[in-house]
Amino acid sequence: MENLKDLFLKHLGQTTRSPIGIEVDHALGSKIYSPDGKDYFDLLSGFSVNNIGHSHPAVIKAIKEQADKYLHTMVYGELVQSPQVLYARLLSGVLPDPLSKVFFVNSGAEAVEGALKLAKRATGRTELVTFRNAYHGSTHGALSMMGSERYKTHFRPLLPDVRIIDFNSFEQLGQISRKTAAVLAEPIQAEAGIIEPEDGFMKALRDRCSETGAMLIFDEIQTGFGRTGKLFAMEHFDVVPDILALAKALGGGMPLGAFIASQELMDTLILEPEMGHLTTFGGHPVCCAAGMAALNVILEEKLHEKAENKGRKFLSLIDHPCVLEKRGRGLFLALRLKSAGYNMRVFKAAASHGFISDLFLFNDDSLRIAPPLTITEEEIGELSLRILKALDNCCLPT
Ligand code: PLP
Repeated sequence: MENLKDLFLKHLGQTTRSPIGIEVDHALGSKIYSPDGKDYFDLLSGFSVNNIGHSHPAVIKAIKEQADKYLHTMVYGELVQSPQVLYARLLSGVLPDPLSKVFFVNSGAEAVEGALKLAKRATGRTELVTFRNAYHGSTHGALSMMGSERYKTHFRPLLPDVRIIDFNSFEQLGQISRKTAAVLAEPIQAEAGIIEPEDGFMKALRDRCSETGAMLIFDEIQTGFGRTGKLFAMEHFDVVPDILALAKALGGGMPLGAFIASQELMDTLILEPEMGHLTTFGGHPVCCAAGMAALNVILEEKLHEKAENKGRKFLSLIDHPCVLEKRGRGLFLALRLKSAGYNMRVFKAAASHGFISDLFLFNDDSLRIAPPLTITEEEIGELSLRILKALDNCCLPT
């Protein structure tokens, strides 16, 4: 029989020249298992998807029960489907006012696309503002909002009228004006390498948007659902956006995205023209059932509250001369290593030391640490030993 890895390389469109390439047999809790019986701590959680761990029984049960009732029945927005309705109600209950109306889509990029369209429709303006080193997805609109020219240049023309400003530059907030339809921001920047806003920056951003009438869109696609030690990262800064984009953990391991706004704002999408935004599969009932089960697990087990201590515990165990800085909140962490070269060596050696991590898109000297929020204290101990061993093998002697 042909080797599965060879078929993977031969028949699947690839995203990099050197994929991690571990074959998955099954995944459970904090770990991914290969067919040869090896286990790997998952420090990515599918990039903040599997916040409640792999194959959580509550999610599997919800998927099975919904699959037994119905799968896709109709394009989004026409029929009353209880998984969508009940999940939207649950989300609006845990979100601050006025974020009460949920438009389900399939992915993060689509959530961003919907949010941008909603802002343009509601304001009648065209300019969009984003931040340096932001990543919001790979479709044309979301890509236009990427804060790096390197990944955009070969795909131009993209959306016109996009302005990039520096994250944490209070001065550059002055570039947001009455021409600005929307400012799209991650409350804590992910692909920049887990970069937090300086004190007062998110409030200043909110104030500038309110002053100019620009819509503030938060992309909590990576930071949402307990990842940073609060249910949503915006809670750290006490700032509420006009529109919230969610995906990843929203679906509990199934593909789901959403953009969320006030009723008044959201309803502009059904005015001149009606059907301002459409999706066939958005809010798939099985995905909504899975996502709602996952959010209930987070709420019942208070995983968001526990993430803070777990993150602190992990960082306290990582004491190594090659780790120059530890960044982040909750279990949304980055270890800055001595150099990009060391970081690459650790990344490449991770699998042989029993963990899976990845590089950040816009930061090459930091290692990503974002395990499932369900990781136990004992596992944190074992994981830190594996990481320290990899650091020893890759980073020393200087
Ligand atoms: N926004 C952020 C912050 C992301 O990290 C991602 C994906 O990594 C996206 C948007 C796009 O999400 P998706 O890959 O589901 O389109």
